[in-house]
Parts: sequence; structure tokens; C-alpha cells
Amino acid sequence: MNYHQYFPIDVVNGPGTRVTLFVSGCEHQCRGCYNQSTWNPGSGHLFDELMLELVIKDLKDTRVKRRGLSLSGGDPLHPGNLDAILTLVKRVKEECQGKDIWLWTGYTLGELSPAQRTVVAYVDVLVDGKFEQSLADPSLVFRGSSNQVIHYLTKTSRP
Ligand code: SF4
Repeated sequence: MNYHQYFPIDVVNGPGTRVTLFVSGCEHQCRGCYNQSTWNPGSGHLFDELMLELVIKDLKDTRVKRRGLSLSGGDPLHPGNLDAILTLVKRVKEECQGKDIWLWTGYTLGELSPAQRTVVAYVDVLVDGKFEQSLADPSLVFRGSSNQVIHYLTKTSRP
């Protein structure tokens, strides 16, 4: 898996102070996509073992307490990203107690494959669906268009 941007401290993508990773690879081709440079899975930088360890270290950092990890892109549930994302979310849940995971995907919850569902089993909040330009609304929080749904999948993540 490749990634485009990594923010060790982020207060925009999800609630609270977070660690945010924008991965490469997306097959949805939404009209009006703000992030077309991420579509190519080969673009960006390799998400290697060092990057994985850095994310875990930043989530454990007690000097700047993070509420959790945000995964966006591109699409973290792109078929080519699933192995690396599964490894990452498993590590977070095993080693970073109390940290939540938010994940943005262009797939809807109902259309996820078994392999995508395996990843989502470790996710607290899934924001799903393509960006629909005709339904775009800048007043929405944590989503770009009104067709997208914020699914609070775990009890602790509910507002
Ligand atoms: S899912 Fe997101 S990154 Fe992919 S094309 Fe749509 S808006 Fe762009």
C-alpha cells in the first residue's frame, strides 16, 4: 500500500486530536473529487514497516494525547490496500487501548466484500458512500455530500 499524506497531529478529520493517514488508491472516480491525485494506487510513498511503527508510536504518545486514528484517501478499502490496512487496524486495537478508528470509504456499508468487512470489524466509525457533487453540502460535518452516512459501529464511538 502507498500513502499520500500523514498527519501525526490533526484536528480536522474526525473528532478530537487525531493521527490521520491518507492512502493511495481509489476506483470510484467521483465527479468533483477533491483528491484525484490519490486515485492511482502506485502514487505517493510506500507505507512500509517504519511508517506502521510511526503511527503506533504517535498514537501511544502521551505528550500530545490523540483520541484515535483517521483513515482516508484515496480509499482505505481499495482491494489493493486491504492487507496493509488490516495489519494497521489490528495493531491499533491490540496495542493502543482506548483509541478509536474512523475510516472514510467510497463503498457503501451494504456493498462491502467479506475481505472489506474483515477490516471494518476493527473500525469504530465508518463514513461511507461516493462523493455526489449534486448532494454536496459544506455545512455537513465529516462528510462532503448528504448521501454519505456516518455509521457509528461501536457503542463507545456514539456521540
Ligand atoms: S471516494 Fe473519495 S477519493 Fe475516491 S473518487 Fe470519490 S471522493 Fe475521490
